[in-house]
Amino acid sequence: MKNLILIGPPGCGKGTQSNILKEKGYTHVSTGDLLRAEVAKGTELGQKISKVMESGELVTDELVTELLKANIDLSSKQYIFDGFPRNVKQAEILDGILAGADYSVIFFKVDIESLVKRITNRRVSEDGTQIYNLISNPPKEDGKCDVTGLHLIQRDDDKEEVVRKRMDVYTRETEPMVGYYRNKGVLEEVDADQSIENVTEQINEVLN
Ligand code: AMP
Repeated sequence: MKNLILIGPPGCGKGTQSNILKEKGYTHVSTGDLLRAEVAKGTELGQKISKVMESGELVTDELVTELLKANIDLSSKQYIFDGFPRNVKQAEILDGILAGADYSVIFFKVDIESLVKRITNRRVSEDGTQIYNLISNPPKEDGKCDVTGLHLIQRDDDKEEVVRKRMDVYTRETEPMVGYYRNKGVLEEVDADQSIENVTEQINEVLN
């Protein structure tokens, strides 16, 4: 089994598909999750990271590379890399880390405008346990959670201004990696504007 690198904009379904792929025996590593764990520790470093993440910009290559290296063991595991690499420099760094180990890259192709619409219409119950979408999965009563009865709120990072910023960073920094991997002949594309099941099916076809 080869390592897998997933590329696509925020909210395109990489995390969801990673959870499904784990059943095949991969270990999922998400630099976003590793960074959030660092923030949760409340250290000085965590506070610095938190500011950058809130702005929608990228954390430095050095910091995120150190964090990644400290959390993987390539000698015994096959990984799904989710959220790393995030730019061409990081793609080169990962090539160094993988040191010749085989990998495939899956590019989640999506329409960015529909993605922005989907994310900005997301609402969650105040306790964070229930997720709605004002268009595809609205609550029965406006602004109120069907299950808990709590108010529905919009997460800060789902607000349009923040979402647009993250998409711009993606287009500017991350998308150029598609060309990098295409030139290496390791790039596979899936149409991620489909149902979860359909995207899983496309990934399975690519992996077989
Ligand atoms: P994610 O959960 O992958 O959407 O990441 C959330 C945030 O963490 C991003 O908006 C970045 O600020 C930061 N981040 C995650 N992965 C990386 C990375 N590989 N390089 C730089 N910043 C990252």
